[in-house]
Amino acid sequence: MTAAAKTRLANVAEWLAAAERITVLTGAGISTDSGIPDYRGPNGVWTRNPEAQRMSTIQDYVADPEVRKRAWQSRKVHPAWNAEPNDAHRALAGLEKTGKLTALVTQNIDELHQRAGSSREKVIELHGTIWWAECLTCGVRSPMADELARVSDDEPDPSCALCGGILKSATISFGQQLDPAVLRAAWAAAQRCDLFLAMGTSLMVQPAAGLCDVAVEAGARFVVVNAEPTPYDDIADTVLREPIGEILPALVAAVVEERT
Ligand code: ZN
Repeated sequence: MTAAAKTRLANVAEWLAAAERITVLTGAGISTDSGIPDYRGPNGVWTRNPEAQRMSTIQDYVADPEVRKRAWQSRKVHPAWNAEPNDAHRALAGLEKTGKLTALVTQNIDELHQRAGSSREKVIELHGTIWWAECLTCGVRSPMADELARVSDDEPDPSCALCGGILKSATISFGQQLDPAVLRAAWAAAQRCDLFLAMGTSLMVQPAAGLCDVAVEAGARFVVVNAEPTPYDDIADTVLREPIGEILPALVAAVVEERT
């Protein structure tokens, strides 16, 4: 690590120690170490297969049964089913124990934060969860495992058992609005923090990326941790490019130690 990188890390460690209300925003980059590929990185799902983006676009999903069939096949083999939380997820669960964490806002749908020990009250899932299915007509939710068990040659696109409507994972697709209550909670958490960390997110998707503006305008310090450049690097107090799984556990360990 260069001297400049060490200085940047030391600064962030100091800010973590001084902060009282930390809000964290995480994206796909925190789960790649758990074997879940990101979307826009060099090995991203959409970089390698642009067609996959149609399965995540609500208009295509509703209009085309073939897209839905492919989506169900893709869900069956989603890496989330076998993924385990990694050191970065566990570090954030540890950060919560210091009492400094206001909220853990995530763009991820894999529930790895909760499985690492972050409490459900702190995790705000901006883009929903793949662990549940939801009817696009009546809104009823069912465990994804139950719906996946129905998928077969005879039933390649299972419909809602209650109303016959189209089922989809309870995630936000392109063209779908975020849940207003979820978005409000995330906004509030960005507004009342004194340190905002954006990690493993390309900050290319709104309204998630806009949380950075909210935090900065509210006077919070703002740190970006991401391997690739983001549109928000210019307004960040500092940018760390090192792998999250390596630097985050060390940063949090220093805070935990100080508190005990
Ligand atoms: Zn229904």
